[in-house]
Amino acid sequence: MFNRTLDVHAGRAHLAQQGVHVPGIDLSTTYPLHDAAAGTASIDAWANGDGTAQNPVYARLHNPTVAGFEAGLAELEEAETAVAFASGMAATTGLLLSRQGHVVAVRPMYGGTDHLLSSGLLGHEVTWVEADGVAEAIRPDTSLVWIETPANPTLQMVDIAEVVAQAGDVPVVVDNTFATPVLQKPLRLGARFVLHSATKFLGGHGDVLGGVVACSEADAKALRQVRVITGANLHPLAGYLLHRGLQTLTLRVRAAQANALILARRLQNHPGVRVVHYPGLPGTDPKGLVGRQMVGPGCVLAFDVGTMNRARAVMEAVQLATPAVSLGAVDTLIQHPASLTHRVVEDEAKQLGGVTAGLLRLSVGIEELEDLWADLDRALSTLELAAAAK
Ligand SMILES: *Cc1c(COP(=O)(O)O)cnc(C)c1O
Repeated sequence: MFNRTLDVHAGRAHLAQQGVHVPGIDLSTTYPLHDAAAGTASIDAWANGDGTAQNPVYARLHNPTVAGFEAGLAELEEAETAVAFASGMAATTGLLLSRQGHVVAVRPMYGGTDHLLSSGLLGHEVTWVEADGVAEAIRPDTSLVWIETPANPTLQMVDIAEVVAQAGDVPVVVDNTFATPVLQKPLRLGARFVLHSATKFLGGHGDVLGGVVACSEADAKALRQVRVITGANLHPLAGYLLHRGLQTLTLRVRAAQANALILARRLQNHPGVRVVHYPGLPGTDPKGLVGRQMVGPGCVLAFDVGTMNRARAVMEAVQLATPAVSLGAVDTLIQHPASLTHRVVEDEAKQLGGVTAGLLRLSVGIEELEDLWADLDRALSTLELAAAAK
């Protein structure tokens, strides 16, 4: 089935049978248990990490609305199943808690994930490597290899299949938030887990926080057990919104990507811009991953205007784009990683990740291209930034 068709119908096959057109929002926190034995059997099933049982029993154990979103996202990622959490970081935490031991992680990555891993908060020992150093870092007790591609905020790409080969038997998790299943399907390349901050492109409208891990049914059991124990559940209203978000995912990603491609080229030619990071620009993809690993270069780009003051000035001057963190919404967002999203990242890792003082990250929305360009051009030009950058 083609992407756009799949988006619209994923996780909805059972609705016709229920006699409804859209999923119900089940807000029950508890469920009547008239048959005590069935209740006990259900409790046992949820405690075992099963994905289905006769009775939900209690909302921390299972929620049908959330399960609908999980089924939809699993279809898009070509996974057996998926497990949703209250946020992307809750999903990251859940996955780490489900796999004790040593973690090999490739920088750069999202600031919050970097912070969680380097804090040692969850008891994992972490070895930080570059993508070609994974094999060397693997130990007998390594339980997970963590990569993000394209990576936040400079869109550096990692060859997933190559990391999978280096990891051997050790499961690889790919944070697929930036690419979305529209552009990249990590499970096809041998990854064992795909993680999303659903807050970004999956929801797509900046109005819902969530996270999700797509994987095999066997791996999902441990994740569900962690969710039952820790209570980091996705709220059913969020589950509903995320499931609806999937229906326009391909449309939104393609429209935003088309804008991003042209904006990246124009920014690159702007005298006020020192460098543009975007996998769709010539020379930025030496391994040829766009076309092979990713269908297209995506909707997020970063550009350096020279100094912190100039970057902040641009962020304050835009009128159509919103100066704000987060990404993946229908509207364009611009932010300054060094002082916002990546502030918590260690200086050395900032440097490695290309988080320079003058860097701005642009999450391109689906607005009309010329309106977006006029806004950026005005923000860059009226401040007379042009003179000093090059
Ligand atoms: C935002 C983000 C996260 C964290 O997700 P939250 O929903 O904010 O908890 C993880 N990874 C990437 C790549 C992100 O952009």
